[in-house]
Amino acid sequence: MRVLVTGGAGYIGSHTVRALIEAKHEPVVIDNLVYGHKKVIQNIFKTPLICGNIGNTNLLKSVIFGTHNELISTNHEGKMIDAIIHFAAYAYVGESVKQPLKYYKNNVSESINLLDIICSNDVISRRSSSDPIPIIFSSSCATYGIPKETPITENTPQNPINPYGKSKLMVEEIIKDLAISCNLKSVILRYFNAAGASPDSVIGEDHCPETHLIPLAIKAAFESKPLKIFGDDYPTFDGTCLRDYIHVCDLANAHVLALKIFEKKQVHLKHDYKNNDLCKIYNLGNGSGISVKQIINIIEKVTQKEIKIIIEKRREGDPTSLIASASKIIQELGWEPKYPNIYDIVSHSISWYTKSSFQ
Ligand code: UDP
Repeated sequence: MRVLVTGGAGYIGSHTVRALIEAKHEPVVIDNLVYGHKKVIQNIFKTPLICGNIGNTNLLKSVIFGTHNELISTNHEGKMIDAIIHFAAYAYVGESVKQPLKYYKNNVSESINLLDIICSNDVISRRSSSDPIPIIFSSSCATYGIPKETPITENTPQNPINPYGKSKLMVEEIIKDLAISCNLKSVILRYFNAAGASPDSVIGEDHCPETHLIPLAIKAAFESKPLKIFGDDYPTFDGTCLRDYIHVCDLANAHVLALKIFEKKQVHLKHDYKNNDLCKIYNLGNGSGISVKQIINIIEKVTQKEIKIIIEKRREGDPTSLIASASKIIQELGWEPKYPNIYDIVSHSISWYTKSSFQ
């Protein structure tokens, strides 16, 4: 399929672009490059990258219709996009609390523009199926807030506790409404903690600023900097928070599987679009809770380096435990994580860190 990947130069987006290419899809990336990495997409994956915002209607239409300058003389010239994978969003929880409008503007308003275009008559009338362009939406376990049950299923009530989680939930709700109003087909994927890097160390996690535990702990190990633990008084076995870490390549592959829902040839899949069930929702995690201290111990073992720690007070908005039940995507789409072991996830991050830092 010809797939438009919004935010495709980011961490999960770039791993997904690679998975799409390997599955013989033809991705086109649109990314404003505020946090994304251009070089990976253009130089390594040789994939068209259009720099811009999805809030820019003219730009977005030209990409969807294959008329944008960057697409001239490529396989995409004059051809319409078949499906969208929508990653483009800001994702710093702490920042979202301080600057909520930044999140509602970017994550919600810009998504509304994207949805408006893919559901417009202009687009629908040019598609052979006469329906909106189907979309996979990158959502988050942050939409559940402080969950009342563990593991979290797709039916666990969603009560987000920060503007980031709320922005993701708002877009989920809009997508569900569009299934009813104009038959928009969609898959909503709620990620738990994405981590790791490609096993060949070509791409990895490179946020700026970095706030995530695993890359910060690796940096602390190699650069002998102290790592802050945000709270060791949680009601868990060692006092630190539990998270469900999922390998970024397993996440990427879930998007490729989800695309099959939009293709006609997915006869073996145990789902269909009967009963107006046009919006499929899946959690993505490994179902096990790993504590902050466990992550630190594993990194110390793999790197053979000691990590100095400072115990800080709890970080605002951190739930004690976020653990997924991913049974639904396993059963319905046959998703099978290749790297469920936390040692593999952490080891791939370490290999990528050492390759990108010391070469
Ligand atoms: N964490 C920590 N020190 C850090 C970064 C994170 O103790 O420097 C903790 C954080 O409080 C949470 C867990 O590690 O309990 C995972 O945080 P991360 O930011 O990686 O992901 P989140 O779960 O917030 O999406």
